[in-house]
Amino acid sequence: MADEYCHSCGMPLNMPDAKGMSEQFCKHCSDDSGKVKSREEIQKGIAWWLKSWQPNIDDATAMKRAEHYMKSMPEWAE
Ligand SMILES: [Zn+2]
Repeated sequence: MADEYCHSCGMPLNMPDAKGMSEQFCKHCSDDSGKVKSREEIQKGIAWWLKSWQPNIDDATAMKRAEHYMKSMPEWAE
């Protein structure tokens, strides 16, 4: 059975528009062939997403929080 959450960003894959070509990653985290994007690209995407919720934080703070967030994701955990 496929995992219900994106292994890269934690987005539920049963959300409308979340599903791309991959069984493990949402379409924001994977390219057209279903391969996960680079760590940097994912981090930028998560930072952008955090800023949409907290417009007051600056880019450096958003990137730091994104890095921290990614440590809880199966794809990026150390
Ligand atoms: Zn994702």
